[in-house]
Amino acid sequence: MKDIKGLISHTELLSDLGGECVDSIASAGVEVVFRKDESILKCGEMGRYLWIIIEGTVEVSFMDSSGNRNVLNILGGGDVFGEMSVLTGEPVCADVTARESVRTLKIPRELFSSIIIGSAATLKKLCHLISVRISQREEIEELKAKRLLAKIENEDPYGLNFSSANAHMKILVINCGSSSLKYSLFDTSDIKPLFEGLIDKIGTAMSSHKMSGRIKAPEELEAHEEKWEAAVEAKDIGKAFHIMEAALTDPVRGAIKEFGEIKAVGHRVVHGGDRFSAAIAITPEVKQAIRDFSALAPLHNPYNLAGIEEMERILPGAVAVAVFDTAFHQTMPEQAYNYAIPFDIAANNHIRRYGFHGTNHNFVALMASVYVKRPLEKLRIITCHFGNGVSICAIDHGRSVDTSMGLTPLEGLVMGTRCGDIDPGLVLHLSRTGLKTAELDKLLNKESGLKGLSGISNDMREIIESADAGDTRAKNALTIFCYRARKYVGAYTAILGGVDLLIFTGGIGENSAEIRSRVCQGLDVFGIIPDEEKNRKARVKRGLIEDISSPESAARVLIVSADEERMIARETIYAMGCLQPAVRLGMGKKAIPISVSVSHVHLSRPDFETLFGANIVSNGQKPLLNDDGQLFQELSTSLIGPKGKVDDISVSGPFRDESQVDISRTDEFKLGIDAPIRNSGDLEGTPGITLESGPVRLRLQRGVILSRRHVHMSPEDALGFGLRDKDVIHVRVDGIRETVFGDCLVKVSPGYDLRLHLDSDEANAAGISQNSVAFFDSLQSREYV
Ligand code: ADP
Repeated sequence: MKDIKGLISHTELLSDLGGECVDSIASAGVEVVFRKDESILKCGEMGRYLWIIIEGTVEVSFMDSSGNRNVLNILGGGDVFGEMSVLTGEPVCADVTARESVRTLKIPRELFSSIIIGSAATLKKLCHLISVRISQREEIEELKAKRLLAKIENEDPYGLNFSSANAHMKILVINCGSSSLKYSLFDTSDIKPLFEGLIDKIGTAMSSHKMSGRIKAPEELEAHEEKWEAAVEAKDIGKAFHIMEAALTDPVRGAIKEFGEIKAVGHRVVHGGDRFSAAIAITPEVKQAIRDFSALAPLHNPYNLAGIEEMERILPGAVAVAVFDTAFHQTMPEQAYNYAIPFDIAANNHIRRYGFHGTNHNFVALMASVYVKRPLEKLRIITCHFGNGVSICAIDHGRSVDTSMGLTPLEGLVMGTRCGDIDPGLVLHLSRTGLKTAELDKLLNKESGLKGLSGISNDMREIIESADAGDTRAKNALTIFCYRARKYVGAYTAILGGVDLLIFTGGIGENSAEIRSRVCQGLDVFGIIPDEEKNRKARVKRGLIEDISSPESAARVLIVSADEERMIARETIYAMGCLQPAVRLGMGKKAIPISVSVSHVHLSRPDFETLFGANIVSNGQKPLLNDDGQLFQELSTSLIGPKGKVDDISVSGPFRDESQVDISRTDEFKLGIDAPIRNSGDLEGTPGITLESGPVRLRLQRGVILSRRHVHMSPEDALGFGLRDKDVIHVRVDGIRETVFGDCLVKVSPGYDLRLHLDSDEANAAGISQNSVAFFDSLQSREYV
């Protein structure tokens, strides 16, 4: 220990730390010894530690595309590596190998980042080191590419296997409804729950408790899964929670000794309104918001909240997280979420489309992206969640851009008992015939859909059986179900501009080859062609994926089993990660200047030369470009769209690999273009535009984006805020009134000044003036926790 403390104080990076910091690093750090040629870190692995070399040397290298190994660095005693993980949390993009026997000290990332914030000198040194290593990384093209690949090479880039948990822990997932309590206990060492239960018909004399768990008889080597059921007396929700606690801690069949072993609880909450775009640790304010949104989900939110409060009572020590069904769809653009009703009525009553099933739509999209080994940010996905509730979602490069359910889960596809899309005039018509609100509610929510159409059942299996036996109404119900679904797949293919993955999930989506096949019929024009043989034979198991595409299908057609509980556990881990970067050192008060982004253009060198000439000089005097392609002087171009033309659009250097037009919403309208919100550089499937400079016109086939709200900051600021590159945050902006903007992407680079970039229309809407500033509010979501 003493030896380690001495080493820490002698490490250049850490030499300014005070005694207390050195003590905590020494006690949390773990000494690890590697043999010669042993691998310490592999490309793709998650970087969770800062490493200090105590003795010996390591080689930092990467394999290029021709299979040659390139050595980047040799590091020795007192050197550190893994510092990028503190900043970006990305997978490692190089390999680190012991050149001889090496002794190292590994320090958990969270501990290290919290310690250095208190030491200005150490922070400065770390930032310098990071700047040097970032510029080295940027210089090597192969390494840049490797960074993208590292994500794919990582086995669990989205933490779906809980690899993002810092330590093994037990997480309880709760889904508390009006008359049922569903729960799953996870240990993060396994994606399958240790124990699951469903207490049904709470408040009646017929409550039942179904359970499944792993039982190990004394003579057995390994536990086996077992299901059993007990009659219980659950006269109210409080009693049901005690029954759950007793079952989980049952000495014979339970999964834990003490309830206190559970460190975190993830609660499914149906409605997060327009306030929550990610899971969040529960505070009194979060509970109040859930209460406020009860008007939008009266059959769910009050019971979800009751569950939260029961858990607080019986397990006060655990972290509680709310995971919202609506959160994933908060990225929908206005054109997708607005109803064409008078604006004021919509605004005053929170009437808009919210969408549901978000947790599972997000889950299956992430699972599929890992399966096809392509980052979610590169894919156009349509997810078909066909269970009792049925919905479909269009996911553009990771963002939900439309979904079939709306203000309530009644909109969209044909469901077990819900009607889905109807003419709202039908409701008026029926009410004029004398039906009361409650009767209409029952009619459309409980007596329509498959049940209403078939007159037989809401259960798809029974409908299929009856249809096979010749029942005409059952046949009709099936046909209408598939027709409506196909119509939506077509519509979503149109709004995505094509589709890369079509995913089926949910009880019907996973089990019915017939439905999958009928939904896909005729969609070969969109490149969606399932293989009938594979489709018929597919049997998808929990946690697994089946590919049923035919070889000629441009889109991959996949079946992914739904697992909302696993996703809630994953979201709980992520939300716990978001708790850590508390605003430290008063950074919450640090003003972030605001730039209102107007449209601007980034050009590739060939496009630049086409527009402005190859050897461009201004007035025959100064060159316009320096050697890096940075512009010395302002250049501008005009943009020509299908509707009109906008002049004086500035051109920003340096050169890009591909030209990109970042357009403001105002100009988007003037030009008559609908551009997607994208991260800079992500141009697949974006609309084209014509640029004009003097007599020259240049047509870009693609490249117009609405750039995503973002904050630029230096590594120093990022570490000060406790943030990492690519985090998504909420910022508070003091305009005429205080506005909180979510979905704000953090971009960290050594050259960046602290600045929030907002679109001009957003800034106008928030009443932002020249002098307005923003403040960091909270961390919304973080990948690779
Ligand atoms: P929930 O939406 O309540 O989670 P599920 O995802 O379990 O429900 O889906 C239930 C639906 O799946 C029911 O309509 C059921 O009939 C249907 N289903 C289950 N197995 C099959 C099958 N083999 N063929 C057709 N439908 C099935």
